[in-house]
Amino acid sequence: MSILFASSEIFPYAKSGGLADVAHSLPQALREYEPVYTVMPLYDMVDRKKHKIVFSGVSFWYALNGINHQFDVFHKKDCKEDLFIYNPIICARMGLYNDQYGEFGDNALRFGLFSYAIIELMDKMNLSIDVIHINDWQTSLVALLAKTKYYLKQKIVLTIHNIAYQGIFDKTVMNELQLDWKECFKFNGIEYFDSVNFLKAGINYSDTITTVSPSYAYEIQTPLFGYRLDETLRVNAYKLSGILNGISTEVFNPKTDEFMYKNFDTESFKDKKANKKALLKALDMHEEARPLFVFISRLTAQKGVDLLLESLNLLKDFEANFIILGHGEDYYNDRFAAFKNRFKNIHIEIGYDESFSRKLYASADFLLMPSTFEPCGLNQMIAMRYGAMPIVSKTGGLKDSVLDFTDIWNLEQTNGVGITFEEHNLFWFLHAIGKAFSLYSNSKKFQKYLQHNMTVDFSWKHSAQMYLNLYKA
Ligand code: ADP
Repeated sequence: MSILFASSEIFPYAKSGGLADVAHSLPQALREYEPVYTVMPLYDMVDRKKHKIVFSGVSFWYALNGINHQFDVFHKKDCKEDLFIYNPIICARMGLYNDQYGEFGDNALRFGLFSYAIIELMDKMNLSIDVIHINDWQTSLVALLAKTKYYLKQKIVLTIHNIAYQGIFDKTVMNELQLDWKECFKFNGIEYFDSVNFLKAGINYSDTITTVSPSYAYEIQTPLFGYRLDETLRVNAYKLSGILNGISTEVFNPKTDEFMYKNFDTESFKDKKANKKALLKALDMHEEARPLFVFISRLTAQKGVDLLLESLNLLKDFEANFIILGHGEDYYNDRFAAFKNRFKNIHIEIGYDESFSRKLYASADFLLMPSTFEPCGLNQMIAMRYGAMPIVSKTGGLKDSVLDFTDIWNLEQTNGVGITFEEHNLFWFLHAIGKAFSLYSNSKKFQKYLQHNMTVDFSWKHSAQMYLNLYKA
């Protein structure tokens, strides 16, 4: 069985969020069992030299709405299954989906073209594919084209990484992309409140749908989390399931991570302290004996940043240190920046910094993750691997990967141990932090949980097997 895994971003070539991490590590895990081709656009910002990406010798053309579009196929020099498509409309600009002025106005055409190219590629490269695995709205049109234009025999599997992003466009793109109005512009097709919705098309036309955690699979069928696609999902519930993401245990390994001050594992757990000490010193923070709470995230409402901002004026009086690393929407960047250097025990860093984030995971006692919704979340798993306890709101993948320490009755049979809170408000958030203080003061028990978390298997092994079962079903 051979798989074509299509994504608009793949780590390390281009990344805007968790999708890129998954599109890197899931195919890698699947390759242990079956051949997997990956395909993504070869954006101008991808460093061809560094990643040794070369032209495959294959170019093809597709005429759409009177315009002949050229696509050039590239691959990695040392892995010919890692494919890239270059087309100037898709690739020749800075930014994946937007720049500093906002979303690109031609994203429908760009990812429509990419979807056509994914299908044409199989023929032009002579690939024998059994399963096409598409991801999010950017590749969702593959399902529609496969079922209404190409009549493909391959199984189409769609994974929804975040339902908040759907690819909604004016219906004029129906003509631009030569989609059949009669066949497709309907409630159980691509039509969405008299516009078109790429993700909705993906949901309606794919054979199997997955999302990135079992709880999120349930939640997105409700009006609260479904972003107006809940009804479409309920109609298609028979083909929907949730599979928890894994993390790359090679990339996130406290024993070998070169960004840390001092490496450690469960045996040398006491060396975690050296990280905390060095980090606090570097930031001119004091009181090592106090618990250290960190927050590492995109700054967007989904991540519970409003709750965090609301709590800063209270946290300043807590006998604890807090470090916040984040970057995102201008509004939140500015609001957090306004708190910079204001309180001695709260350090704020605006930016995206892989190296600093690893130092935080390695040094922290607790990771704060008060998301309003969270399809899966990777931070909590990374934190646990680095011996930090996650404090999470009980939603989506957080609910599926973290159990509150007061709810455990058999540690051996428990996966991640942390602190959870159910109602998303300041009272329960501070209550969870209060529980953290209490646990921290019982250092023997606390350490036992942290060391347990470090041994939990957050790799892709189990989940990759579940994907294989779905492909074969
Ligand atoms: P998202 O919704 O952003 O995809 P995930 O939890 O799935 O959230 O993935 C977040 C990933 O990005 C994690 O690896 C996390 O460590 C990393 N990350 C988020 N914000 C930052 C930042 N400001 N600096 C460094 N790494 C970050």
